[in-house]
Amino acid sequence: MNRFSYERAENVAGAVGSIARNERARFIAGGTNLLDLMKENVARPNQLIDITRLPLKGIDASQDGGLRIGALVTNSDLAYNAEVERRYPLLSKAILAGASAQLRNMATTGGNLLQRTRCSYFYDTGTPCNKRAPGTGCGAIEGFNRMHAILGTSGACIATHPSDMCVALAALEAIVRVTGPKGERAIPFAEFHRLPGDTPHLDTNLGQDELITAVELPAQGFSEHHAYLKLRDRLSYAFALVSVAVALDMKDGHIQEARLALGGVAHKPWRDPRAEALLRGKPATEEHFRAVAEALLRDAKGFGRNTFKIELAKRAVVRALRQAAGLESQP
Ligand SMILES: Cc1cc2nc3c(=O)[nH]c(=O)nc-3n(C[C@H](O)[C@H](O)[C@H](O)COP(=O)(O)OP(=O)(O)OC[C@H]3O[C@@H](n4cnc5c(N)ncnc54)[C@H](O)[C@@H]3O)c2cc1C
Ligand code: SF4
Repeated sequence: MNRFSYERAENVAGAVGSIARNERARFIAGGTNLLDLMKENVARPNQLIDITRLPLKGIDASQDGGLRIGALVTNSDLAYNAEVERRYPLLSKAILAGASAQLRNMATTGGNLLQRTRCSYFYDTGTPCNKRAPGTGCGAIEGFNRMHAILGTSGACIATHPSDMCVALAALEAIVRVTGPKGERAIPFAEFHRLPGDTPHLDTNLGQDELITAVELPAQGFSEHHAYLKLRDRLSYAFALVSVAVALDMKDGHIQEARLALGGVAHKPWRDPRAEALLRGKPATEEHFRAVAEALLRDAKGFGRNTFKIELAKRAVVRALRQAAGLESQP
């Protein structure tokens, strides 16, 4: 591990001021991802700015009837919040499908959005990796790529975003609130994470000097018709091979609104509005669900060991849609 200095921020302005003065500084929240990366010599900040004392731990009603979640709300507090369980059970289920109870007690909302890929080559400094060391190549494309992406890949990187929570936030169309030296701004969830392109070292559109202060949920929570399906190599404590978040608004057996987000298949939670449109105004039938699954995966490309994910994702989409529509029970 590299030498670094430590500072505890007392307020948002102080935290932003400190990070703006040093481009090698990093915020630390729960530390469950950053410390691992530092121990593996993948992240090498020379200053840590501890943000855990900032007043960003509230879950409050927002002006538009939704919910404002402070960036330092832990994954446990968020998943078990009574209002979240009642109005946004999709989010609660997605969080509880991830990590372990101990990790969820430490991990924060902001940190979950910014956790880095679990590509094993990224963590192994003895192998090439364009995300860790731009321009060195990608060990995964012709290597052990069972966990890797099948959608939105580039010749530079085929990593996936590992978060469960973010898949639900994508389906719920959350907004990320951030503060930087130039003031505050709001980033729609679909624009927060990036595809790799030729700059895979950039995971998000957040500036290095910006602090996530909150995530806002719109009023519509899809509490009646939702599903989070996570498929993984073992039943707990594993990242998703494929996950699906479904949010439906239904009336008289017909779908009024449909949102689907896939995890474990791309560099960001994957949504395709054209595929979702195939469900609007339609009855909830297996036939329509299969059509949307085919449309969602039509451009998917496998890299050998992960090619099985294309069929797996199609089947997961159909099953999650059946669960959300009430045609099949869910845990
Ligand atoms: C063994 C293991 C299994 C796991 N399994 C899963 C799983 O199945 N599903 C899943 O979704 N996750 C899983 N996780 C990941 C876990 O959810 C993340 O590590 C956690 O959410 C990160 O939050 P944190 O507060 O600890 O972030 P930190 O480690 O403190 O920070 C992560 C990054 O975010 C930055 N950061 C933190 N807060 C802010 C902020 N407010 N503004 C700007 N930058 C910020 C930091 O600078 C750092 O770069 C697992 C982790 C481990 C170790
Ligand atoms: S897939 Fe991305 S993160 Fe993994 S080795 Fe290739 S460039 Fe690195």
